Amino acid sequence: TAAAAALGLAACGGEGAGSGGPDPDAPPSEQTVGVAMPTQTYERWVADGNNIKEGLEGKGFTVDMQYADDDIPTQQQQIDQMINSGVSVLLIASIDGASLSAQLDAAAAAGIPVVAYDRLLTDSENVDFYVTFDNYKVGVNQANALLYGLGLLDESFEPADDAPEGPLNVELFAGSLDDNNAHLFWDGAIDTLQPYFDDGTLEVLSGQMDIDQAATQRWEQETAQKRMETLLTTHYNGGEELAGVLAPADPLSRGIINALQNTGLGPTIDEGLPIVTGQDAEIASIKLIADGVQHSTIFKDTRDLADQAIVAAESILTGGEPEANDTETYDNGAKVVPSYLLEVQMVLESNYEEILVDSGYYTEEQVEAGQ
Ligand code: BGC
Repeated sequence: TAAAAALGLAACGGEGAGSGGPDPDAPPSEQTVGVAMPTQTYERWVADGNNIKEGLEGKGFTVDMQYADDDIPTQQQQIDQMINSGVSVLLIASIDGASLSAQLDAAAAAGIPVVAYDRLLTDSENVDFYVTFDNYKVGVNQANALLYGLGLLDESFEPADDAPEGPLNVELFAGSLDDNNAHLFWDGAIDTLQPYFDDGTLEVLSGQMDIDQAATQRWEQETAQKRMETLLTTHYNGGEELAGVLAPADPLSRGIINALQNTGLGPTIDEGLPIVTGQDAEIASIKLIADGVQHSTIFKDTRDLADQAIVAAESILTGGEPEANDTETYDNGAKVVPSYLLEVQMVLESNYEEILVDSGYYTEEQVEAGQ
């Protein structure tokens, strides 16, 4: 009955309330870190989760980690449960950064600090810290990779001497609008490309130059592939040449490449496939880069992000305050969240071995197999 359900809830809340939050005197094993992750469909979140869990357990902490299948109510329930069970601290990689205010309020009421992981939690005072990459620079790097691939920049990323005059046609893709990162990636990229649009070197034939038009809900590969197909049949059906595509994440890049190849372009860049950018250095895309199909990606070392999250969690758990290296950028609508930003690296056919193989991130065999 509703009454029993209400009772159950109250009992649950009663148990949890007050027992959560850090206890600097408790041994690590008695401190549980609640880790909320968005989805396992993107390789990176699986790697993030594994690294965080391993790192925290290595330090003796107990970990309660949950993936939400990109479903907002599921993530809300998972976090509610973590709060009710009295976790000491929460690490949250949100699906929709603005959808967790009730959970963040409940966490604050129970004395549980919250660290936003990779994606900013917005519209709430109750976010204590944020660990992420320099998301604006991701977008700048994606745009620079595109300009380099199009021959407009040389290998030092200076204007190329023998740059084509244009106009060159490009199309633009963005991530999910409810992910704050998508906006920073877009801003970084568009700020970098704007002078080329202004002087007519680059043109977007579809005219779809607003983030709302370019967005890919929930970062779904299929959605990006379908949009690329529609763009091709609508705007490139009379011999118009598409030179490049700004794509914000590797699964989307691969969907876009599928659409391009299905219309007979390529199969490689040398054979006429447009320049397509990416992000995350997913193994399937590194193989495509090695094979001259996808042009570039952005490597964000999630091992370092996990480490940084653990450092932040540890300092909170021992009664300290995590060290920020940015206290200006991340205004979440309610406060500026103190943040720790990590650097990113552009990956191309010419440097993937050095950046990813020599460093031990992937083996040559993995690159060859693409998995
Ligand atoms: C992350 C990217 C990722 C994207 C899709 C963003 O918030 O920063 O690394 O590609 O989400 O999962």
